[in-house]
Amino acid sequence: ATPTAVMVATGKGASQGILIKGGNALEKAHKVKTVIFDKTGTLTVGRPTVVQTKIFTKMSLLELCELATAAEINSEHPLAKAVIEHSKKLQQQYGSHNDHLREAKDFEVHPSTGVSASIGGKRVLVGNKRLMLSSQVPVSPEIEDYTFDMEHLARTCVLVAVDGVIHGAFAVSDPLKPEAGRVVSFLNSMGISSIMVTGDNWATATAIAKEVGINKVFAETDPVGKADKIRDLQAKGLTVAMVGDGINDSPALVAADVGMAIGAGTDIAIEAADVVLIKSNLEDVVTAIDLSRRTLARIR
Ligand code: ADP
Ligand code: MG
Repeated sequence: ATPTAVMVATGKGASQGILIKGGNALEKAHKVKTVIFDKTGTLTVGRPTVVQTKIFTKMSLLELCELATAAEINSEHPLAKAVIEHSKKLQQQYGSHNDHLREAKDFEVHPSTGVSASIGGKRVLVGNKRLMLSSQVPVSPEIEDYTFDMEHLARTCVLVAVDGVIHGAFAVSDPLKPEAGRVVSFLNSMGISSIMVTGDNWATATAIAKEVGINKVFAETDPVGKADKIRDLQAKGLTVAMVGDGINDSPALVAADVGMAIGAGTDIAIEAADVVLIKSNLEDVVTAIDLSRRTLARIR
C-alpha cells in the first residue's frame, strides 16, 4: 500500500477504535484466511464466576475458600479473581470473622494449569486436573465424574488440593461475549475460518466452541503451545490472525501474521499486537480485516 493509503486506513481505523500499527499489519490483514481466538477473556467475557462449590472430604467450605484465596491472591488469572470473590462472599454470608488472609509462601504460577503455594506449612495446589496429575495428586473416580459433568456444562473446574489430597472444587462459568457468535458466522461468510485455542480442558472448550459456532478447537495448550499451533498453520501457507487478551497468549500474538489485542487486555498484549481493538468488541476483528481488504483493493 502507498504511504497515503496506509495513512488514510489507519486514520479511519483509529476513528473507530481500531489501532493498526503500520502498513505491514494492514497488508497482512487482507490476506487472512484463518482467525484464531483465545477463549478466556477474548471469546468469553473474561469475568468468570463461581456457580457451584463441591467438597469431596470432611474439609469445611470456609476452610477450602481460605486456602484457595491465600494461594490465588497473587495470581493475575481471571479464574483466581472468581475464586477469591466467591470466597469473600461466602465468608460474609456465613459471618466468618476469620477473614484475614493467610500467609502464602513459595507462591508459584503453573502456566495454563494453576498455582501452588505453601500455606501454614501445607502444600496447596489450586488448578485443573493436569496440575494435579503433574504433581502426583490422585484424581478419584468421584472427582472425575464431577469434573466430567461440569465440563459438559461448559464450566471449568478449579480443584483445590492440600498435601496431595483434593478436597474440593469451584465450578466456574465464563459466558460468551454477546457478539462472539455473530462475528464467527460473519467471518465465515467472508471466507475466513475461525479456530478456538485455550489452555482450558477439552470438554469445556468443546462445549463453548459449539455454543459460539466454532468447530475447530485446540485445547489444553500452554502459551508456547498456542504459538506452535499458529506456526503449524503458517507452515501450510495460511495467513493467520490471532485475537487475544495477553493472558497466556502473548507468544501467540507475536507468532501470528496479524496479532490482534483486545483493548482491555494486558499491556504486553497491546505492545505485542499489530492491531489493537480499543473497544474490546470482537466485531472490530471483522471491521479491521474489512478495512484492510478495501484499502488493498483500492490500490490494485
Ligand atoms: P485460556 O487459554 O482459556 O485463557 P489459560 O491458559 O489461562 O486459559 O488457563 C488454562 C487452564 O489452567 C484454566 O482453564 C484453569 O483450569 C487452569 N488455570 C490457570 N491459571 C489458574 C489459576 N490461577 N487458578 C486456577 N486455575 C488456573
Ligand atoms: Mg486468555
